[in-house]
Amino acid sequence: MKDVKGQLLEKDIRPSLTRMKIYDHLMRAKSHPTAEEIHRDLIDDIPTLSRTTVYNTLKLLEEKGLASTVFNERNERRYDVLEPPHAHFVCRVCGRITDVAIAPSATYPEGFHVEEVQLTYRGVCGSCRENRQKKEHA
Ligand SMILES: [Zn+2]
Ligand SMILES: [Zn+2]
Repeated sequence: MKDVKGQLLEKDIRPSLTRMKIYDHLMRAKSHPTAEEIHRDLIDDIPTLSRTTVYNTLKLLEEKGLASTVFNERNERRYDVLEPPHAHFVCRVCGRITDVAIAPSATYPEGFHVEEVQLTYRGVCGSCRENRQKKEHA
């Protein structure tokens, strides 16, 4: 969690244990969890954790540019980390959000600094396509 602490300090966020755990969890989770899911996943570890703390921490991480929100097809607010910059694939059948690597080949004007990239592909994910094919052939 050393890296987590360093990243929070770099953004002038006081690295309380709760904040570190929430950010660490967000970095590991590949599922783009909702605040509710983060609360559910961490409550065993931090029994005193309130939903308000989760919401406030996510808001702070977002304000400081460490996290962002991403909405799926059901318009659920889901959370994500910004590093490394990546695009999203949103499945319109199951709503799952998958990270897609983006080539760092874009050229920006001299002296520009990119803080956030938002690129979303929409379509049908592999497992939903497989399910659909099974149904068609059943
Ligand atoms: Zn799907
Ligand atoms: Zn993502």
